[in-house]
Amino acid sequence: MIHSLPTFNQDNSLEWQLNLIQHLDVGIVVLDKAFTVRLWNTFMVNHSGISAEHMLNAHLFSKFTDLPEDWLRRKIQTVIMLDNSAFTTWEERPWLFKFKSYRPITGSARHMYQNATLLPLKNAQGEVDHVAIIIYDVTDAATNRLSLLNANQELSRLSITDQLTGLSNRGYLESCIKSEFERFCRTQQKSSLVMLDIDYFKKVNDTHGHLVGDEVIRKISKCITMFTRTTDLAGRYGGEEFAILLINTPIGNAKIFAERLREAIENTVIQVDNLDLYVTVSLGISVSDKGYTDYNQWLNDADQALYRSKERGRNQVTLADYD
Ligand code: GH3
Ligand code: MG
Ligand code: MG
Repeated sequence: MIHSLPTFNQDNSLEWQLNLIQHLDVGIVVLDKAFTVRLWNTFMVNHSGISAEHMLNAHLFSKFTDLPEDWLRRKIQTVIMLDNSAFTTWEERPWLFKFKSYRPITGSARHMYQNATLLPLKNAQGEVDHVAIIIYDVTDAATNRLSLLNANQELSRLSITDQLTGLSNRGYLESCIKSEFERFCRTQQKSSLVMLDIDYFKKVNDTHGHLVGDEVIRKISKCITMFTRTTDLAGRYGGEEFAILLINTPIGNAKIFAERLREAIENTVIQVDNLDLYVTVSLGISVSDKGYTDYNQWLNDADQALYRSKERGRNQVTLADYD
């Protein structure tokens, strides 16, 4: 029922229109210039739980204290002054009126997402003296869009992450090494690349089985994560081989890092299934400022250095030989 607007026509058409407004599945609120509520339709009653009798002739902001008052005042004043509609979407502001969401299929949304339109309303003299706020419930569209966004974020996270260790995977690692090499070419700020391979890992698998082997890989990856700074990037390069990109790090510091990591792993007890296991790792380091023309050469030099660590007896760090 409309309480605020007169029904003085003969053929009842105004009455019908007002009835329609009441039963539309959108919220309609009419305010005068002093923000006094002049119309509060059924949608607003149902979702706010506040009756039309209660709202009519009340000051909107005194009834709804959690409205964005300053923003809405300015918006309404502009609509009146310019005689122009205004819009706001759920992306800019999830809701204007904080209503609960009752939609069964969007059980995840606790509040109703809303788009809103503000319409200038003219009197018989052609002056804008009221504003209609139209509230659209867009909870379904918003939650669909948000879950799609979440799914996409999860997909892109998965596409750069190694499933076993949670470190970066080889593809992502290589793309970072490539862009770090390009950055070096522009800025000449050197970075170091450390390659690491677990020693005699086949023996772990052969003696204790693949699952224990997997757990050892996971534990070593945790050690690596503990040692790297947030600006560095650690990834699983292959089976039990890892690469760590040390940003803005000259060879001397990279060597200190690699030695500490090697020693820490050597002294770590890896506990799996009541077994106490010890493993060692071999490492190779190359630095970006050795006249490479391609990031692959940088990578290859680290790999060669790692190979020499193996040749020399394992459990050691070797710097790339640049002669
Ligand atoms: P080296 O000291 O020369 O590195 O000896 P190694 O035994 O570690 O030799 P190599 O690096 O050639 O062998 C790696 C082994 O790691 C072979 C493969 O079966 C095993 N491996 C590779 N990926 C995985 C994995 O995801 N899980 C487990 N459990 N084993 C893996
Ligand atoms: Mg190995
Ligand atoms: Mg290997």
